[in-house]
Amino acid sequence: MATSVKLNTGADMPIVGLGTWKSPPGKVAEAVKAAIAAGYRHIDGAAVYNNETEVGEGIRAMIKDGVVKREELFVVSKLWCTFHEKALVKEACQKTLSDLKLDYLDLYLVHWPMGFKSGPDQFPLDSEGLTIGDDTNFLDTWEAMEELVDAGLVKAIGISNFNREQIEAILNKPGLKYKPANNQIECHPYLTQEKLINYCQSKGITVTAYSPLGSPDRPWAKPEDPSLLEDPNIKAIAEKHKKTTAQVLIRFHIQRKVIVIPKSITPQRIQENFQVFDFEMSEDDMKTIMGFNKNFRACPMHWGVKHKDYPFNAEF
Ligand code: NDP
Repeated sequence: MATSVKLNTGADMPIVGLGTWKSPPGKVAEAVKAAIAAGYRHIDGAAVYNNETEVGEGIRAMIKDGVVKREELFVVSKLWCTFHEKALVKEACQKTLSDLKLDYLDLYLVHWPMGFKSGPDQFPLDSEGLTIGDDTNFLDTWEAMEELVDAGLVKAIGISNFNREQIEAILNKPGLKYKPANNQIECHPYLTQEKLINYCQSKGITVTAYSPLGSPDRPWAKPEDPSLLEDPNIKAIAEKHKKTTAQVLIRFHIQRKVIVIPKSITPQRIQENFQVFDFEMSEDDMKTIMGFNKNFRACPMHWGVKHKDYPFNAEF
């Protein structure tokens, strides 16, 4: 089983990466070091996680110790919504690079199709608690992303949380220079994303699954929300394979050729989440898991529902 997925740029993207959203600055450098020591070569970050300085510390410590070389790592970051204006894209990318203290990113994603009012507030909200949009169009933002490739700041560019129509708009953009290499979307057994994954893969766009364990530490979790890690049906499949529920949840993506980025700051779990290359689920297991779909989103970004580019009102 391949441990990486080929991008339309020709680069190989490691199929398992470490997520870093909600990883506190005081913990994330150690988590990154533990991940690299365990064999991870892919780190998923974003400017809005407000911890890139420490993510970079972890990366650089492992390079300095001779455990890995920069070129063996695959580092991902994301352009935040308040930087969609064409004139702001390069400075946002440069800020991420200077926080990480790296010369280039392997992949830079437009974090959401929605542009928010620019300024120091990462989540500008109106009196109803809804995000204040800007008048940018993500097609223009995409042109500024393309310039980052030409400037050598990033090796590949992609998108995140884009729906099919929005992806199609990019692919059909007159003068398109680079197709998105990747779409990072929420995906797990309660949100299997069959149609969107098929669409992306048919267009040569790889998919990364975020919140693969159901994001139990998301700040807006409610007690009545379904819990993947406690699902007895998934647990039963795990027991059959003598694996943990988390390992089955991660392996599920690998067998769909979907990249997956579980987050943990716990060294033992970081290791556990990488022990996913020594077993194979049957087609029947995979079908059973696909049957658990209930279109449940852990990350609906509900403050954006009225934004002109809110992605989740469409079927897929
Ligand atoms: P995950 O589904 O990865 O779940 C993380 C939670 O699971 C943490 O509470 C972690 O605890 C716990 N956990 C990790 N491993 C295990 C294990 N083996 N057993 C039991 N519990 C475990 O959630 P995320 O939402 O963080 O998604 C992963 C990553 O995807 C993010 O960190 C981020 O990088 C990316 N992402 C991208 C988004 C986007 O819009 N593009 C949106 C959301 C996520 P602990 O850390 O305490 O060990």
